[in-house]
Amino acid sequence: RADLAMYQAKEQGRNNLCFFDSSMEVSASERAVLLADMRSALQNQEFSLHFQPQLDSSFHITGCEALLRWRHPQRGNVSPGEFIPLAESSGLIVDMGAWVLRTACRQLAYWGGQPHMRSLEMSVNVSPRQFLDKDFERLVANVVAESGADPRQLKLEITESVMMENIEETLSTMTALKALGIGFSLDDFGTGYSSLSQLKRLPLDQLKVDQSFVRGVEQAETDASIVRTIIGLGRELGLNVLAEGVETAQQYGFLKEHDCHSFQGFLFSPALPASQFESFVKDFSRRDGGMTGDAEPRF
Ligand code: C2E
Ligand code: MG
Ligand code: MG
Ligand code: MG
Repeated sequence: RADLAMYQAKEQGRNNLCFFDSSMEVSASERAVLLADMRSALQNQEFSLHFQPQLDSSFHITGCEALLRWRHPQRGNVSPGEFIPLAESSGLIVDMGAWVLRTACRQLAYWGGQPHMRSLEMSVNVSPRQFLDKDFERLVANVVAESGADPRQLKLEITESVMMENIEETLSTMTALKALGIGFSLDDFGTGYSSLSQLKRLPLDQLKVDQSFVRGVEQAETDASIVRTIIGLGRELGLNVLAEGVETAQQYGFLKEHDCHSFQGFLFSPALPASQFESFVKDFSRRDGGMTGDAEPRF
């Protein structure tokens, strides 16, 4: 891990160790500027959500993942891979994440009134710091109630690192939100350090196979084995397994053959602005409606 640049953020009186991949290594002053820009961006409405479709094995769109987009007035689009870690280490993720949740739930409630969209589920990413915030549980309950969204159509994507932080607290927050009908998905599964004994204690609904494994299923036998193993684990634990980052028909074929339940990736569509996502869903169901047997549209 010598290529990882480490720095210490001393915000809010505590030391947070943060790691940045060298590919996105930026100077401390540049980070400070980006952070200040990010604060004002929340006020200036520079953020938006895009939605990436998720499909089941009968080739129906079952939902979408909400992904944050930032259009910076000077820099243009800044990738979440760049600004989310900074928001996380500075604590700004708490406000930013609240905005994401509110916006996603309003969208979900709006779609609830549209025939083509009403049954879709919405997955929302929640970062560890946001999840472990003392007000998180209340925030989610309030946002859901205010928006009028059906909590049974909301899924929160957490990562393995939240259980590392505090398994008891994680468990209690999850249990309370599950009682409202909200679902949980474990994002980037296989890349973290969670143990199976921790995993089995969490009231999860879904495992998301990390795209790094999906990418290799055709060439690398180890990646293929890992993906098969995660699908098997999901089956044993009664969890839905979703493969993310599906880019080729060959990857999709492999996943389907090994009984993966759900799929997401550029093969189907990238994340789209809300209105384009609506059109995509309408077009897709029209195409799909004309299909018979297990024939599938070609991409
Ligand atoms: P993630 O949650 O694992 O989201 C999946 C990422 O993979 C997204 O990148 C998506 O655009 C990308 N992706 C989807 N299909 C494909 C594919 O077929 N090939 C490839 N190469 N990539 C694909 P994005 O939008 O840049 O987001 C990156 C990460 O930033 C997310 O990873 C998530 O960890 C974080 N993020 C994004 N939005 C939010 C948010 O609202 N809140 C929080 N806390 N984190 C977010
Ligand atoms: Mg995600
Ligand atoms: Mg992921
Ligand atoms: Mg990721």
